[in-house]
Amino acid sequence: MTNKELAEVMYPNVTKTIEDYEKMYPKRDLDPKAVVTRFAPSPTGFVHMGSLCSTFVGYKVAKQTGGVYYLRIEDTDQKRSVENGIAGIINDLKQFNIEFDEGATGEDSEVGNYGPYIQTKRIEIYQTFAKWLVEHDYAYPCFCKPEELEAIRTHQEHYKERIGYYGRHAKCRYLSNEERIERIKNGEPFVLRLKSTGDFEKKVVINDLVRGKVEYPENDIDHVLIKSDGIPVYHFAHVVDDHLMRTTHILRGEEWMPSTPLHIELFQKFGFEVPNYCHLGLVMKIDEDGSRRKLSKRKDPEAAVSYYAEKGIPSEAVKLYLMTIANSNFEGWMDQNKDKTIDDFTFDFKKMSASGSLFDIEKLYNISKNYMANMKAVDVYAGLKNWAETYDPEFWQLITKYQDYTIAILNIEREQKKPRKDFDCYSSIKPTIWYMYDELFAKMEKNYEFQKITDKEEIRKIFNLYIEKYYHKDDDKETWFNNLKACTEELGYAGDMKAYKENPDNYKGSVADISQVIRVVLTTKCTTPDLYEILKLLSDEQIKARIELI
Ligand code: GLU
Repeated sequence: MTNKELAEVMYPNVTKTIEDYEKMYPKRDLDPKAVVTRFAPSPTGFVHMGSLCSTFVGYKVAKQTGGVYYLRIEDTDQKRSVENGIAGIINDLKQFNIEFDEGATGEDSEVGNYGPYIQTKRIEIYQTFAKWLVEHDYAYPCFCKPEELEAIRTHQEHYKERIGYYGRHAKCRYLSNEERIERIKNGEPFVLRLKSTGDFEKKVVINDLVRGKVEYPENDIDHVLIKSDGIPVYHFAHVVDDHLMRTTHILRGEEWMPSTPLHIELFQKFGFEVPNYCHLGLVMKIDEDGSRRKLSKRKDPEAAVSYYAEKGIPSEAVKLYLMTIANSNFEGWMDQNKDKTIDDFTFDFKKMSASGSLFDIEKLYNISKNYMANMKAVDVYAGLKNWAETYDPEFWQLITKYQDYTIAILNIEREQKKPRKDFDCYSSIKPTIWYMYDELFAKMEKNYEFQKITDKEEIRKIFNLYIEKYYHKDDDKETWFNNLKACTEELGYAGDMKAYKENPDNYKGSVADISQVIRVVLTTKCTTPDLYEILKLLSDEQIKARIELI
């Protein structure tokens, strides 16, 4: 019996041909240099930092070349699917302004002419391609039961042979079509296996854009392409999809590198052009003991993209950091092009590290701190409000009620040549400025950081004299400071720091101690932004009330 007859028995419902699909999904009309690439996650609802890094690269490269970036959902493994998993992924990425040109847009919706973009909706397509392979003697049904596969393995282990279903071990490869058809007709379950023509002794060269030329032995294993339930495995499904969706670059994790010879064999059997490969290194972390390991979803909170939203790290800052680890020349470029943005930078696969990148959360916070220091107060306010709405509704109410006041607080020592670097994320703002709000001041536990002058009587005396006699809201900074010094002297402390340093024993203390008392009474903290600015923002009633609370 012919392969065609076998194929017909195996896939009786297939009515289309590969040519039909070639027509439905024509070659894209794009510049030859345009990169068409994709993010192809399982619908786990979770984006790992490593995936964010690769989506960022894919998005950047597609944009930079006038290409297409699309989202394909690889849901053929039920174990890796969770409810609303697609929406979770899309939301996580939206936060970083990564939006797709095509692909799934929700659990049951999509945009684009190359879909369906969800693999379980493409079963008929896979079967058409599978049927073609059987017809051309490139694939066959395998009826081996788990015990039989186990026996092959035990035999191979015993004789120290390479493990796998290949060559003479591949029992079902040698069945006649008559027997195959009969067994199928008898309802025996089967998987579809590739009939590999590769030679393990020969080499295949993968031209990887990140790693350069990498040699592997050719694939000679008769891998399963379609499981007994009719669902394809990744190896087969992605080859069909990447061809029909006209992907030019396969950007994926380095863990797929060893199976690439199989993928190349499949592309070649179909006579399709093999896409470019870009296998990205792992995102790693240095453990306490100094060893390197993969950034882990289980152990490292910063591995989840949702961590950045919760902390309120501006997505632009995260992106700057990701580009820093993705392209070795980015940091230097940024230093020399301070007025430019990531969009102006040209990403280059050759500048990626093949051995993976080290993820350093401290450095990310540092980048974020510098980024936030250079933001305008209104922009910090907008980001803070947006963050607080979800993560601190009580604070959201407060800053919404006192919008201008909050912007003024955020503007202290900002929008100047050397701005203050107080915040490295939105969640770090409230712990730094809470004392500016009476509502929070009344209820926060207060730990007054008085240092040199700690006697309550003396503190009251200093504060009251200053407020009643020397403090005037409209004073300019110089007058303000002169008044503070005059107050200091009236109290028997040194107004002139130089004189104090020369003869410290002649005085009870200096103007620095007096300003510290005022600062701590008002804020509880011994270090704060400019005291003059803080005093200016607080009302006279607020100022007077605070001495009653110490
Ligand atoms: N679904 C595969 C994964 O999650 C995608 C690999 C690829 O991009 O081809 O690893």
